[in-house]
Amino acid sequence: MSKPAKILLTGATGYIGSHAWVALSQAGWDVVGVDNFANSHPAVLEGLTRLLSGPLMFECADVGDAAAMSALFARHRIDAVMHFAALKSVPESLLRPLDYMAVNVGGLLTLTQVMQAHNVQRLVFSSTAALYGASQPPPLREDAALEISHPYARSKWMGERLLADLLAAFPAWRVATLRYFNPAGAHESGLIGERPRGPADNLMPCLGEVALGLRPHLWVYGRDYPTPDGTGLRDYLHVQDIADGHVSALEHLMEQPDSFTLNLGRGEAVSVLQMIAAYAQACGRPIPYRVIPRRAGDVAASWADCSQAAQRLGWQAQRDVAAMCRDSWRWLSAAQTSSALPAPT
Ligand code: NAD
Repeated sequence: MSKPAKILLTGATGYIGSHAWVALSQAGWDVVGVDNFANSHPAVLEGLTRLLSGPLMFECADVGDAAAMSALFARHRIDAVMHFAALKSVPESLLRPLDYMAVNVGGLLTLTQVMQAHNVQRLVFSSTAALYGASQPPPLREDAALEISHPYARSKWMGERLLADLLAAFPAWRVATLRYFNPAGAHESGLIGERPRGPADNLMPCLGEVALGLRPHLWVYGRDYPTPDGTGLRDYLHVQDIADGHVSALEHLMEQPDSFTLNLGRGEAVSVLQMIAAYAQACGRPIPYRVIPRRAGDVAASWADCSQAAQRLGWQAQRDVAAMCRDSWRWLSAAQTSSALPAPT
């Protein structure tokens, strides 16, 4: 396969986008990154420059700004797009539903319109396992019934519907929709990782903040679930494995007349208490925690059936929970002492 010149990466300085940038570059693709820093920091570009040892092609722009995006497509010969730019917090989406629709649905609409106008018809889209409901027993396959229970999931579901309608109308398009389970960890170099602008609400960054002494303890939401230790079971996946999954999906899209929706997970259930123990082991410190009642909307157990991604893409997660905790801790402890990044809030 002759590789295309350029991949546009939206949300390129975000958590997953920055790791995808590294994986794409290392696989030989040229990358143009775009981000408006709504939930990331320009300092991420310094880590990327060190990792990739060279100048980066980056533009600060809003994906919802049609004129800016169109000018960007005119300046670069873009061959395909990986679209990570979105708002992603479930609790925040309950408070800002219009913003979630505007960025996650409106941004995708503008992007696909600009792509169509510039004859770019290859897209990898970030979706989420938050679309799967509680009534299905795991492992969850891609054809499991969807239960949309908050504005964030609704915005991703609407994105998936928009892309299905686009594919029905324009068969030359090829779209890979990837539903991630629980991204965790950081790049093994310690140079990039997760550093949102607002307070963290995923388990691993909260564990890191407790280990750093920035939070007195971890809140564990419920210990009365029908699971072996009573805490929720989730499928955690190293962010570098997610990035590698995107490279595999892109390569497949460029070679095959195929569009698909696939889970990205490890297919393994890990409890909150197991995660606390693994993080304590990685950082060499105890992780104090307090059990409080279940959180509305949380399911007891959710993990992926990843067989479709293995069959279609030949992709399988390679890194385990110990690697996720080790790499998260390396990143957070280095970022904490570095002047390059602000301290977590
Ligand atoms: P992130 O917030 O770290 O990255 C998203 C990036 O998009 C940020 O850098 C932000 O500044 C940028 N952005 C937001 N609005 C923008 C806009 N209008 N224009 C340009 N840039 C904009 O999030 P992430 O964890 O890297 O998530 C990436 C994608 O994966 C998102 O689409 C998210 O919904 C999806 N996803 C994330 C998770 C997760 O738990 N991290 C799980 C499933 C799916």
